[in-house]
Amino acid sequence: MKIHFVILLLFFFIQIISAQNKNICFTIDDLPVVSYGMNDTAFQRKLMDGIINSLKKHNIPAIGFVNERKLYSNDSVNKFQVSLLEKWLDNNLELGNHTFSHPDYNKVSFADFAQDVLKGELISKQILAERYKSLKYFRHPFLHIGNTKEKYDSLTNFLKSINYKIAPVTIDNEDYVFAVAYKRAKEKNDFTLAAKIGGDYITYMEKKLHFFENQSQKLFGKNINQILLMHASWLNSNYIDSLAIMLKKNGYNFISMDETLKDELYQTEITKFGNWGISWLDIWALSQGKKGDFFKDDPPTPDYIKKLAQ
Ligand SMILES: [Zn+2]
Repeated sequence: MKIHFVILLLFFFIQIISAQNKNICFTIDDLPVVSYGMNDTAFQRKLMDGIINSLKKHNIPAIGFVNERKLYSNDSVNKFQVSLLEKWLDNNLELGNHTFSHPDYNKVSFADFAQDVLKGELISKQILAERYKSLKYFRHPFLHIGNTKEKYDSLTNFLKSINYKIAPVTIDNEDYVFAVAYKRAKEKNDFTLAAKIGGDYITYMEKKLHFFENQSQKLFGKNINQILLMHASWLNSNYIDSLAIMLKKNGYNFISMDETLKDELYQTEITKFGNWGISWLDIWALSQGKKGDFFKDDPPTPDYIKKLAQ
């Protein structure tokens, strides 16, 4: 009896220790905002404030990736859009480059893509420099890193040569599909439906979290420092608070991109290339020859959400 008790105690102790070691980095794409055509500045400011306030409330050192095309109206700089990013920086959040116009690297040449990367850093670099900070990270649009080894190598070497580090994603998901459904429900003043979508979004993200934790365990025998991808949408403006609570309940600490990439698993080599835009865990698994069954049980987006978003 006694020995069982000791084993049980040890088991709980190990669970507590490993729970404390779970880390996650929040990355938010398509800044300043994903407004779905709602151009009212008061609305956009409120959307951005919602994101910033929830991140601050939970001490989340998030990084936002900017498409600088959104900072212009008819070729001149839109000061309001820039002010949204300035507020982001003044709350000690980080910014990265997500290209100027969000091109699909599977469809454009390396030369054209590289030009778009350079065009996408001008204003961000300036507002960062004014705060004695610099631009360090790059996030690929659609997570398209290059569909051949040649294209991947060209871009990876180019980014390195201009001092960018690549920001991977481990918890890939369809938050943008939920976001469209949510926006439509809110527009129709269907608050019951909007609340249901929000609740189902958190449930879905928790399932994705567990799925990718399991993928990491299967691939590496440990839980990698996770990187969550989401977009600067109305949905996330209202639900980052709930997401953070769900993640804390699952034992996660919130860490910066710098801290995240100290995990040596991020040195894992990529040797398989395709048209996919997927989690780095899946890219590494493919690179290590994993097939079919390894990728099964990836939680799907509910059908009613897909229908609403059509
Ligand atoms: Zn994007």
